Amino acid sequence: MKIAIIGGGISGLSTAHFLRKGGADVTVFEKNGVPGGTIGSRVSDGYLVESGPNSTSETNFVIDELLADLSISEEKVYADEDSKYRFIVRNGKLHALPSGLGSFVSTKLWTIGGKLRLLGEPFAGRAEHEESIADFVTRRLGSEFLDYAINPFVAGVYAGNPSELSVRAAFPKLYALEDKYGGLLKGTFKGMRERKKRGTQSKASAKLFSFRSGMGILPATISAELGGAIRYATPVESVKRDGAGFAVGFSSNGRSETEVFEKVVLSSPAYVSAGIVKSWLPELASELAKIKYPPVAVVVLGYRREQVGIDLKGFGFLVPEVEKRKILGTIWSSSIFPKRAPGGFVELTTFVGGSRQPRLVVLESDDITKIAHEENSLLMKIDGSPAFRAVSKWERAIPQYNIGHLSIIDAVRHVESLHKGFYICSNFKDGISVADCIANGKKTADAILS
Ligand SMILES: Cc1cc2nc3c(=O)[nH]c(=O)nc-3n(C[C@H](O)[C@H](O)[C@H](O)COP(=O)(O)OP(=O)(O)OC[C@H]3O[C@@H](n4cnc5c(N)ncnc54)[C@H](O)[C@@H]3O)c2cc1C
Repeated sequence: MKIAIIGGGISGLSTAHFLRKGGADVTVFEKNGVPGGTIGSRVSDGYLVESGPNSTSETNFVIDELLADLSISEEKVYADEDSKYRFIVRNGKLHALPSGLGSFVSTKLWTIGGKLRLLGEPFAGRAEHEESIADFVTRRLGSEFLDYAINPFVAGVYAGNPSELSVRAAFPKLYALEDKYGGLLKGTFKGMRERKKRGTQSKASAKLFSFRSGMGILPATISAELGGAIRYATPVESVKRDGAGFAVGFSSNGRSETEVFEKVVLSSPAYVSAGIVKSWLPELASELAKIKYPPVAVVVLGYRREQVGIDLKGFGFLVPEVEKRKILGTIWSSSIFPKRAPGGFVELTTFVGGSRQPRLVVLESDDITKIAHEENSLLMKIDGSPAFRAVSKWERAIPQYNIGHLSIIDAVRHVESLHKGFYICSNFKDGISVADCIANGKKTADAILS
């Protein structure tokens, strides 16, 4: 079976891996000269710099299968136990997210009024139409919880706008608590009881992990295994039906070429895939073109340990929009995973831009670094200049599962059912995390092989 996979990010590479494992003949077309898409790790001056994801959660069993296949299970590192401590900024100060009833009652992250409002959650009714995460949370938990819990959380996961993200598409598990059980508290307790009976664990408690050499080991190892089956610097321009198969039009060394495959998997970003199918499937193209990808800059900063005036015990902090600061949040990378910074130094990774402040990403890298350093200095009492700095800019970073996203995905599934052998496997479908992309790669490969 000759199969074309378009895009050598983790979605396309995972699909290719599992297809090859099942005996298929795959060709991966990748626009860039390196694999991995948004995943990229490098060592610079003793710092491990991640340009995209820093870690992912062990939410499925496919990850372990992939790591075992690639013989890299031993490279996996789990996040430090103290990463469970997470902080949110309020009035310019870091407040720990409560971990139990006692700390919930005493925290200054929420006012007494805000905390009392949560008691009304079980009595909130159901939504009658597709809601944004902002509307859903305001209705069930109140506006303070939206501002000082969900808004920063959404910035941390999607770099997105809570008033635009669809709760059903972007946070299906949260939505299911209302849909299946009638409320968040009720659903959480009933879910816990059901899981206890089944002997399974909540996905929310899935462990966070990375690798000794960073997330980049995943695309590096899969691509090494694929060898000549990946064609780098070969952007695909079009896909069209050709008899029982598909004609893939691509550019190689400046020349346009076409090759026919029995099956094709589109693993490129939605805005690219829209252009690729435009002449063959114009309706699908116009649906895919609706998916927004706000820009994000990732700023990695290194400091001598004694420059930082707070104890870096935890995962890091997120910034609510109402605090009117210029960063989305900072993770304490060298606290989460060992050996991310040289001895005596710490590594911090700050995210700037997103749907909240897209214009900041247009600034020069030096200016973005300055913003990250100044904001971190105020919030974390940092004294002096950074000893290390690195910036990665993503003009279009993360697909937004906004209101209407599910009807876009319905259109994708409709086309997949009409044109047997045509598949889409990318982070705008069925989850954005690296873990989700790997699981979806396996699901796509299984569907093709069966
Ligand atoms: C800044 C940032 C931080 C993140 N942090 C985390 C995190 O901490 N944890 C987590 O789990 N996830 C995180 N994510 C999300 C996760 O990294 C991505 O969702 C995932 O890596 C996307 O993989 P993908 O293969 O679907 O897409 P991509 O990585 O976008 O890959 C698409 C590939 O298609 C290629 N391509 C584009 N056009 C063409 C063409 N015409 N022809 C051929 N190839 C083409 C691209 O070059 C690219 O290699 C983060 C993402 C970003 C941007």
